[in-house]
Amino acid sequence: MNLEDVIFLGVSLLLLILVLISIYTEKVRKRFEPALSKDKIFRCQKCAFVYTDDPDVDRSRCPHCGTGNESVKF
Ligand SMILES: [Zn+2]
Repeated sequence: MNLEDVIFLGVSLLLLILVLISIYTEKVRKRFEPALSKDKIFRCQKCAFVYTDDPDVDRSRCPHCGTGNESVKF
């Protein structure tokens, strides 16, 4: 084996490791990502509690203190 072969082998190995890491992180990311939900997200104006409710309601009562809150828009 000459030096060029060693360098080529090293670079190939490095690329392979990078690809494997990206595949692995992608899998982990998908596993921990919350399931896609159409529920609206609400944030209580009084106690700052964050909760979700059905997508067809505009105002929802906070399960903690009962204050009516508008949905959070992103
Ligand atoms: Zn509240």
